[in-house]
Amino acid sequence: MRAILIDEHGGAEKLRYVDDFPTPQPAIGEVRVRVRAAALNRLDLWVRDGWAGIKLPLPHILGADAAGEIDALGEGAEGLAVGDRVVLNPGIGCGRCDLCLSGQENLCPKFGILGEDMHGTYAEYVVVPARNVLKLPDHVSYEQAAAAALVYLTAWHSLIRRGGLRAGESVLIVGAGGGVNSASIQIAKLAGATVYVVASSAEKAAQALALGADAAIDRSAEDWIRAIFQRTERRGVDIVVDNVGKATINGSIRAVKRGGKILIVGNTSGYDSEIDLRYLFAKHISIIGSTMANHADFVQVMRLMFEGKLKPLISARYPLAEARQAHERLAQGDVFGKVILEV
Ligand code: ZN
Repeated sequence: MRAILIDEHGGAEKLRYVDDFPTPQPAIGEVRVRVRAAALNRLDLWVRDGWAGIKLPLPHILGADAAGEIDALGEGAEGLAVGDRVVLNPGIGCGRCDLCLSGQENLCPKFGILGEDMHGTYAEYVVVPARNVLKLPDHVSYEQAAAAALVYLTAWHSLIRRGGLRAGESVLIVGAGGGVNSASIQIAKLAGATVYVVASSAEKAAQALALGADAAIDRSAEDWIRAIFQRTERRGVDIVVDNVGKATINGSIRAVKRGGKILIVGNTSGYDSEIDLRYLFAKHISIIGSTMANHADFVQVMRLMFEGKLKPLISARYPLAEARQAHERLAQGDVFGKVILEV
């Protein structure tokens, strides 16, 4: 089959297009999907670069998100048929442990992500457990579905399930670019929150407003913490979404209200930050981490996407063979919306 491989970790130049990689066979309870669209995530760049201690069998196929049609069924994969149009849930639990059986697949000790822990979606075919696919209605395109999965389910699990966001609350999203932040803006608005965004440039601030944010602060032009206090009558916000990390976490601690929550699903600027614990106890702040989502979240965000209530933004498309250019585009940091590989 056609695929993009990495033979060693490093930059975008390590991505190699081949047309003779062995096509995977579905085992018991699995299905094989003929990928039609794959979506890029920052995660792909981190796995490609590698990190200290990463032990991935090489060559490896990147990619968490995809949609396509079922091409072959393993034994016991019931309720699905060859030709079904489907989207993949990129988070894969063992399906048997207490946590999986209680609907907390993302806490499974064997939890893995397509393209990070196993071969991913930058390929003509991918094999996944049958429980990880959801049928697509006819009006939803493969690229829309692929673009929605990882970022929306991550944002949904963090904001709604872990953060308990309710209508009428205020949410500050630190960082305007990036798929999870764009998804967080839409989900927080859908939940009935007032949404503030801190963007790194006037252009990104404008894009955040176009996505539905109530106010966007350009941190290159004004002190964002002071701006938040002015806009919230010096209370601070109920919830801060901070996936920037090291560079902004202390600002987030100041911008959140007394008794508020800070939600973290990532750390694009670095993980080893120092925080002033006095603010934490004096302000009754909760810092809540989460990663990926469970299957119920996946089904829920996909239904909202099918109904048009969540709309993934697509900013660029490349053929599979041009994955290198797609990675370079994503790494530039100026993309607002998803980068798609057409397979
Ligand atoms: Zn499990």
